[in-house]
Amino acid sequence: MSDYTIGVDLGGTNLRAAAVARDGTMLAKIAGRAQLTQGRDTVIQDIVGAIRRLMEDMRARNLIGVGIGVPGFILIREGKIIGSNNLPEFEDFPIQAEIERLLGEKVILENDANAAALGEKWIGAGRDVDDLVLMTLGTGIGGGIISGGKVLHGYLGMAGEIGHITVAADGNPCGCGNRGCLEKHASATAIAAMGRLLHLGDGITSEEIYNLAVAGNERARMIFTAVGEYLGIALAGLVNIFNFPLYLLSGGPLPAWDFFAPSMFAEVARRSYTYREARTRIEKATLGNEAGLYGAAYLPFQQAGA
Ligand SMILES: [Zn+2]
Repeated sequence: MSDYTIGVDLGGTNLRAAAVARDGTMLAKIAGRAQLTQGRDTVIQDIVGAIRRLMEDMRARNLIGVGIGVPGFILIREGKIIGSNNLPEFEDFPIQAEIERLLGEKVILENDANAAALGEKWIGAGRDVDDLVLMTLGTGIGGGIISGGKVLHGYLGMAGEIGHITVAADGNPCGCGNRGCLEKHASATAIAAMGRLLHLGDGITSEEIYNLAVAGNERARMIFTAVGEYLGIALAGLVNIFNFPLYLLSGGPLPAWDFFAPSMFAEVARRSYTYREARTRIEKATLGNEAGLYGAAYLPFQQAGA
């Protein structure tokens, strides 16, 4: 009987679940809205319901386990989420134990960005390496670090918060309490904020700023040059710390690569001896918003030693 796992990706807007085979083939997928405003029980029921439907569809196969990617810090040993803006009702709630109780199956919980990094390592842009960093540029900036093929957790499970690396000593204030965090200067939200500041339009989005850049708008291009510099500052630090072979970027602003990459590469080269001396790839991730789903599905295979 062929083995499979179930991966779940709970995001701010979408709840997705997939049954995935050992070779990374997606066997079935369920996508729906994440009803975060409906309260904790509804969200948990939706997760458990999606997993049960997939188990029913896959009953001719052998379930290895279930992996769930969620936004927020994960206390790995306790199976709890803390500090998630998207999921305030889950604060300090034993979500892992509750889902296991309802499902009657073991569940592995992981931070969504860590899961995305693991997905890229398994079957995405990081397939050929064991060590990589993934940065996801969105509303904020998420990060995942894969070392020796596994998610680097830190001692509690809070490692990889790349979005909160300081890139401007007296920069924009951040919800985390710091100033000048990377995500306040290089996320899609930050790009839109710079667009407003440069009078490109009150409700302008990062995508519209990208379109302006394509059309030759100088202010729009300046924004992406600045974004590249901030990304480069963060990347130089990461390259200096890890000396990994691969650093990946994903997320909505990725189409603007040609506008931000030149200043990003220049900044990393300027600030990192390791980058100048060691062969280091900084590239686009390839799985897009499916990365977290694949990574969550890979967790049980990895734990089972597959
Ligand atoms: Zn911050």
